[in-house]
Amino acid sequence: MAAPTSEPLPSPRRRLARALALHCPECGSGQLFRRWLFLQERCPRCALRLDRANPDHFVGAYLVNLIFAELLFAAGLGIWLLAVWPNVPWDRIEVVAVAAMILSPLATYPFTRTIWLAADLIFDPPKASDR
Ligand SMILES: [Zn+2]
Repeated sequence: MAAPTSEPLPSPRRRLARALALHCPECGSGQLFRRWLFLQERCPRCALRLDRANPDHFVGAYLVNLIFAELLFAAGLGIWLLAVWPNVPWDRIEVVAVAAMILSPLATYPFTRTIWLAADLIFDPPKASDR
């Protein structure tokens, strides 16, 4: 049985917008991360469990992170190749590509984590056990 609430559930668009700003998709509160890569256990305002009870929740966030980071990398590489074609500096691209492949998932991790949480909340709204 869900806890009674006085506020209506946020719309999917609002949840995703809050997630993109690294805020709680439910209440809009910030400070969901202790540090860049370390998510709080619960939202500091609404006490929503940020790593939901579903054991596959982290796998979904990881998958979104991987897809988003690699798409970002591919777009950057494509733009770089188009800008310098046909004199492509392959040696420099090799070094930058390795660094980008390592750093881009770390840079996008907090965003993909909150976006996945928002998507999960859209399809599976919070229950009393999530608080
Ligand atoms: Zn919250």
